[in-house]
Amino acid sequence: MPKTPDEIFEETFAWHAKHLSPAQATLLRFAGFESVADHAQGCIVWDVHGREYLDFQGCYGALTLGHCHPLVVAAVEEQLHKMPLPTHMLFNRPKAELAALLAEITPGNLQYTFFCNSGAEAVEGAIKLARAATGRTGYVTTINSFHGKTMGALSVSGRERYQKPFEPLIPDVSRVPFGDPEALERVVGEKTAAVILEPIQGEGGVIIPPGGYLRRARKICDTEGALLIIDEVQTGFGRTGRLFGCDHDGVVPDIIALAKALGGGVMPIGAIVARPEAWKIFKDDPYIHTSTFGGNPLACAAGLAAVKVTIEGGLPERARALGERLLGGLKTSVQAYPHLVTEVRGRGLMVGVEFVSSDHATAVLSEMALRRILTTYSLNRPEVMRLAPPLIVTEDQIDRVVEAFSKSLAAVDKLLHE
Ligand code: PLP
Repeated sequence: MPKTPDEIFEETFAWHAKHLSPAQATLLRFAGFESVADHAQGCIVWDVHGREYLDFQGCYGALTLGHCHPLVVAAVEEQLHKMPLPTHMLFNRPKAELAALLAEITPGNLQYTFFCNSGAEAVEGAIKLARAATGRTGYVTTINSFHGKTMGALSVSGRERYQKPFEPLIPDVSRVPFGDPEALERVVGEKTAAVILEPIQGEGGVIIPPGGYLRRARKICDTEGALLIIDEVQTGFGRTGRLFGCDHDGVVPDIIALAKALGGGVMPIGAIVARPEAWKIFKDDPYIHTSTFGGNPLACAAGLAAVKVTIEGGLPERARALGERLLGGLKTSVQAYPHLVTEVRGRGLMVGVEFVSSDHATAVLSEMALRRILTTYSLNRPEVMRLAPPLIVTEDQIDRVVEAFSKSLAAVDKLLHE
């Protein structure tokens, strides 16, 4: 007898609780995410019961092309049957082609790429390269920043809660408020190897810095001889309404960290792309920093297709237009609830709703789940609900989410008054 959907859920929940994380299993169930995903297409996920969800969480913002984009799936399928993993001894065509494409499209046409498998790994590589290129040890990062959870990436991140249990982290890291160029000016100096910044703090709660902030940071780095690392893991590939988040400020980084959307929603892949000055160490030893799976043909085939679909489909422009619709709708919805929501903000399709507390955010998240809309909260600022839909989302899907959001707010408000 095949298992019923309820049996599949109970069994999956039990395995998750016993073998993955009891706390997470309880949390998800409590928040109303009581189902098992089965398959997905575009912005829609179906669970094992056959119920349909609109995915505005999108694998933490990785799904700019939605689930299973047909052109990315076709490219991956073709490569899958040819050669998914490399030998590392013969030249790897998809990897070289994707590196050449990244040099064409990155701000300042950054020449060199190193491929890895995730965002945190890209940040690890970037901060290593900065030390090697400058002969300095220090880093400057921002309070509430999120750069990943491996030891190095965690060290240059800005939330103590995730750091404390793992101390000592790597030393010589200064943290300054995000969006404040004077604060950067005060701490960047002759010992600074690199300043690392997100163009918009994502997990920090969708915090948009004042215009010109990255340009000021660029100038400060140039004056002090430090490298500027821009972490575009979340903002890259159209999410904010430009191909890269730093394009809004017209800034060329020394090193850019990429991941998430580069895989086209099909494959995990990360990359660091940099100017030749940051690449010096590879001249002496091309094997000084390596990865077994980084740059594998399967992931690079996905990357090539993803970049082409993003650019040829005009997805950054689409994100800008649809972002305005989403932001406008949400702003109208919250007008009657100033006691619940303090701000709605965003750029392109990177949108945050800040609640008066994390409990309020969780309550609305659960109400949204009841209405089959998947959203998330921000890791560094749980009072901020984050919406990061695929850039291929339709106007109708946005309107459905806005309507569900209005109903969810009303439901939570009613609960509070009962
Ligand atoms: N950098 C930024 C800006 C991110 O938002 C994230 C993840 O959300 C990371 C790095 C880490 O990426 P990953 O989870 O792929 O390691």
